[in-house]
Amino acid sequence: MRTRELNSFKSMLLDQRSELINKMQSFRHETLAPVGERGDEGDRATSELDLTRAVRDQERAHMLLPKIDRALQRIVDGSYGLCEICEEPIGIARLKARPVATLCIACKEEQEQTERIFA
Ligand SMILES: [Zn+2]
Repeated sequence: MRTRELNSFKSMLLDQRSELINKMQSFRHETLAPVGERGDEGDRATSELDLTRAVRDQERAHMLLPKIDRALQRIVDGSYGLCEICEEPIGIARLKARPVATLCIACKEEQEQTERIFA
């Protein structure tokens, strides 16, 4: 992969990472807010809905963050963009859609089939 491409994926991953960390910090802030500050009945319903959404975001962030860190590590050690199974290039289009991808489409499909069989 060219350095320019690698740099653009690196900045994509770093952006995604700081966005996730911001979300995690604002979540902590929301959950720690005293109940009295959450307003009347109507506001409370909204904030409960927000909270559900925030919890879901939080779970996603916890899953995604280690993947982003791993992808950034792979950029450093030079293995970024190569499939972890067959070591073929994953493909720029696939990486643009999913910068944390570690498998090429063929290996990913094979893995999903195996998971279906053993599920
Ligand atoms: Zn592969």
